[in-house]
Amino acid sequence: MLVDLHCHTLPLSACSALDPLELARLAAERGLGGICLTEHDRAWDADALDALRRAAPIAVFSAAELTTDLGHVLAFGLPAAAFSAEARELAAAAERHGALLYLAHPARDGLLRVTRETVEYFVSVEAANGSDSRLQNIAAAGLAKGFRLPGIGGSDAHTAAEVGRAATRFAAAVSSDGDLLDALRAGAYEAVLLDS
Ligand SMILES: [Zn+2]
Ligand SMILES: [Zn+2]
Repeated sequence: MLVDLHCHTLPLSACSALDPLELARLAAERGLGGICLTEHDRAWDADALDALRRAAPIAVFSAAELTTDLGHVLAFGLPAAAFSAEARELAAAAERHGALLYLAHPARDGLLRVTRETVEYFVSVEAANGSDSRLQNIAAAGLAKGFRLPGIGGSDAHTAAEVGRAATRFAAAVSSDGDLLDALRAGAYEAVLLDS
């Protein structure tokens, strides 16, 4: 099952031009089985998320992309109250909540800000990002090899054309945020770049 683990929608990500339902429909058309909403530093309201899930043709998961001192971090299973701009605080919260942190598009800034100590905050990196160049994705996939879990993949879509350019292929079907977290923890997935 292919799930896009990195998507931005309006209005929570002001930089995006994508309506959430449009995103889900486009992703379905392009062969994905699920999308994960990762708005910048914002969590979806539970009722709005329920309504979107009822209307969407594919599974909809919820996570976040947090802006931190070590770069952008994709956080899965972290409650909004624990969001922080300090990676050290995020790591402590992730530990408490059993959440997973991945460094997003790690080759984009050209310089990794993680050190020997802070690299421990992350279970892995985003190894395939649909908005990054081929070279950046090769570098990111190489970085992922140094972590205990495989790298994840996502489109980082902000517009319709970008939907479905990268995803994460899960070995088994996932249907809830809990399933997604379990599958990530088990490492039963791989990052994929897709032609679209
Ligand atoms: Zn980012
Ligand atoms: Zn993003």
